[in-house]
Amino acid sequence: MMKKILVIEDESSIADTIVYALKSEGFEPYWCATGMDGLTRCNEGDIDLIILDIGLPDASGFEILKKIRATSSLPVIFLTSRSSELDRVVGLEIGADDYVAKPFSPRELAARVKAVLRRSAQVNHVSNSEPGKPSDTIVGTEGTAAPFRIDTESMKITYFDQIVELTKCEFRLLAALIAHPGRIYTRDALKELAWDEPEFSLDRTVDTHIKTIRTKLRAVRSDIDPIETRRGFGYALKTSW
Ligand code: CA
Repeated sequence: MMKKILVIEDESSIADTIVYALKSEGFEPYWCATGMDGLTRCNEGDIDLIILDIGLPDASGFEILKKIRATSSLPVIFLTSRSSELDRVVGLEIGADDYVAKPFSPRELAARVKAVLRRSAQVNHVSNSEPGKPSDTIVGTEGTAAPFRIDTESMKITYFDQIVELTKCEFRLLAALIAHPGRIYTRDALKELAWDEPEFSLDRTVDTHIKTIRTKLRAVRSDIDPIETRRGFGYALKTSW
């Protein structure tokens, strides 16, 4: 099955180039010229990845991504005309998987699309149809990311077949990282995900919890650190080591 890629970009010349590059790499691209059209197309539910321009005529790419994230965790690659740090941080904070700065080579963009799709394929959401049974998230099916298993019902995480004893906060932090290997979370984003009252916690509290999580994971496998520190950004689950 060809992967469907939604391209949300108002400049038709840029969109044409992207669509052509994606087609020649075996993808099935769809083009929308406005954020709202893009959201409508996205809500049809068959899209595998979104390429999202930040400068759109009706809304910014950031706003569109927020709306997408309210209902879906589809992989998103930002297109940015300014490669400023601000764009990068803001974009990643609300959960973009990667970004490409204009001007870019279509070949490079296609390579990024493949890498992000490969990353998200490492996460298998195994849904149990039997009522009352917990649904598990398993990472590491391709042997590149660490074998984690999340049992959301009992709030337990298994790492290399061993249960890791975690507090509620630690569970939420690690589960967020595991759910999207390679996705970079800022400390603010992690606070939002892990704390009931994020406004009362400090950035360094996140660091402290990550440190504790690392110690607990090291007790299982001392030779591996599956969490990557991205200086200036935050943390991500490594996709390989
Ligand atoms: Ca634009």
